[in-house]
Amino acid sequence: MTDSDCLFCRFVAGEPAPDVVHETATTLAFRDINPQAPTHVLVVPKAHHRDAAALAAAEPAVMADLVASAAEVARAEGLGDGYRLVLNTGEGAGQTVFHVHLHVLGGRAMQWPPG
Ligand code: AMP
Ligand code: ZN
Repeated sequence: MTDSDCLFCRFVAGEPAPDVVHETATTLAFRDINPQAPTHVLVVPKAHHRDAAALAAAEPAVMADLVASAAEVARAEGLGDGYRLVLNTGEGAGQTVFHVHLHVLGGRAMQWPPG
């Protein structure tokens, strides 16, 4: 499914142009417009799914592709000390864009619990 009302579907289609850092046949990774760490990249499936559970149920291999893409982004960004992967799921958890996206955060010390 592609939704012209969905910002990340429009990014996958190339308009408006995101700041792409990595791309595969099934995923697109681009810089977050409001970074919360020196490296803050979002990895999305090219197909529209509203959240992580929906993606895992419909296309489990693409969920694995998201994690592999995130690891490639971390390598390319030099996050050898470690990085954090976040999947905000649902409004109560802070999800604001309902096209699943894996946050890749790194380049600074990470606090735990994350809040
Ligand atoms: P979430 O709150 O987990 O749904 O994450 C949505 C993320 O999308 C936030 O971190 C936003 O900063 C990011 N975002 C929103 N609009 C854009 C945009 N135009 N380009 C890049 N990132 C965006
Ligand atoms: Zn979408």
